[in-house]
Amino acid sequence: MKNQNELMLYVHWPFCARKCRYCDFLSGPPDSPGQISAYRDALIAEIKKEDNHAGAGITSVYFGGGTPSLVPVEDTEAVMDALRRRYDFDAADETIECTIEVNPGAVTKEKLKAYRQMGFNRLSIGCQSTDDGLLKTLGRVHTHRDFLDTAADAQAAGFSNISVDLMIGLPGQTQWDVTTAVREVTALPGVRHLSCYSLIIEEGTPFAEQFARGELILPDEDTERDMAHGVTEEAQRQGFAQYEISNYARAGFESRHNNGYWRLVSYRGFGAGAASFDGARLRRFANAASISGYIRGAALSEDRLLSEDEARGDFMFLGLRRLAGVDEGEYRARFGRDLFDDYAGEIDELLKAGLIVRGAKGIRLSQKGLDFANRVFMAFV
Ligand code: SF4
Repeated sequence: MKNQNELMLYVHWPFCARKCRYCDFLSGPPDSPGQISAYRDALIAEIKKEDNHAGAGITSVYFGGGTPSLVPVEDTEAVMDALRRRYDFDAADETIECTIEVNPGAVTKEKLKAYRQMGFNRLSIGCQSTDDGLLKTLGRVHTHRDFLDTAADAQAAGFSNISVDLMIGLPGQTQWDVTTAVREVTALPGVRHLSCYSLIIEEGTPFAEQFARGELILPDEDTERDMAHGVTEEAQRQGFAQYEISNYARAGFESRHNNGYWRLVSYRGFGAGAASFDGARLRRFANAASISGYIRGAALSEDRLLSEDEARGDFMFLGLRRLAGVDEGEYRARFGRDLFDDYAGEIDELLKAGLIVRGAKGIRLSQKGLDFANRVFMAFV
């Protein structure tokens, strides 16, 4: 597989004000007053000792969580400085997409200004719903008013590339709720990107218990599919094109970081549970998946080399998430092989089932394939 010189950086901040009822991410309130600074020190130590990827060109930096905006701004800055020193990139380089996730009600105007000054040029706001009743059901700490204030503060702080997260398939949510939310958030100044994911009931969450007791009435599959179609139609009406199954953007504002994951670009993740992928060696590894374990320096939770077969399968199913699909030329440049020879049987079957279409440059999901994408992905894993 051809080596790449591109590298994306991810930093995981796992702290949240309190746990949302549906969430099974590695996140939660700090367990002691000193845990955030101990975690910051562990992050900086991990960044300093990193010695792979010499000479790689950084294309994106992403601070995710958790709620990164809950962390004192000095800690965010200290970690950003450590990354900058280690990877030798410039804070003022606007060609590097530099994103930080914030949650409404968990970020101040001053912090937003400080983020902009330290080089962040893209903000991702966890809105999830514009309905206060649904926010309460989800266990979110914020109200819709908080979200509107955060979006306005972000714009005033100089962010002109804002992404908003919404959720569909929520208990009691209607098609009208979804369409209204998309219309409202895409009209806000500075909002150029929208991510819209379906609620998934994850084992071990309070939602899973409520669901098992019959207390959560969720939209059925057809309704949820209609909601997803409603998102796409409304987003398009507002000038946002769908570029991935769950992501929409104004022209030129597609997330470079996410696109990188779907193109199997190398990435280095720092922090508890953070995963990394080294495309030159086909190595995938992940840090200890607990906050205290990570601070203690516990062993990696995963470390393995992918076979070239696996890497090709990942390239296919990740690439097919994008509406542009998998480019035959890019596949050849990457693996030195022919896409239509390697996957002749799979492609033939998916074409016959109407789940993919063949274009001038390669293959992509059909309209039907967008609704049943998992069936397509299964063919390549
Ligand atoms: S804010 Fe996000 S990461 Fe934190 S608990 Fe809620 S869903 Fe999970």
